Amino acid sequence: MYAKEAIGALVSGNQRFVEGRSRNPNRFSDRRNKLAQGQEPVACILGCADSRVAPEIIFDQGLGDLFVLRVAGNLVNDMIVGSLEYAVAYLGVQLIVVLGHQRCGAVTAAVQGGTAPGKIESLVKAIRPAVEQAADRPGDKVDNAVRENIKRGVVQLKAAAPILAPKFREGILRIEGAFYHLDSGTVEFLG
Ligand SMILES: [Zn+2]
Repeated sequence: MYAKEAIGALVSGNQRFVEGRSRNPNRFSDRRNKLAQGQEPVACILGCADSRVAPEIIFDQGLGDLFVLRVAGNLVNDMIVGSLEYAVAYLGVQLIVVLGHQRCGAVTAAVQGGTAPGKIESLVKAIRPAVEQAADRPGDKVDNAVRENIKRGVVQLKAAAPILAPKFREGILRIEGAFYHLDSGTVEFLG
């Protein structure tokens, strides 16, 4: 699916979700049977692991529709890039959305500072540059850092050689940042 159509599908699905008109598509045996031999997802979503930000639900999509990667703080690393490269190069996906959200716990931990226990520190460390970048901006510190963290993820993916970057430059691949509002259910595309 072309990126423009894919964005349209996500925007209209989210609108249905926000308005309580979800169709819950593509989740029964006919769809499962159709998909058994192959997938052709509409878009890739790199989202946070937060249980409240489930991509298939908030975009009102179903089985086989979204190629989803989730990690606390929607961070980019080699495994994430490799997975996205697979989706773009082999499944023909033309849209990647980096999806952060309001009151993200991982970003909040990074904003609060100090050392986090266990491997949580790895997450915090990876988010810290976004926190520092956004530190002087007016408004909510966590919201600002979430937005900056999304933006950095988009920049990283746009520069990811040798698969994503050239496809992005050629206009075959779109990479967008988006912010999910927990309060309303709305996904705001950051443009
Ligand atoms: Zn989060």
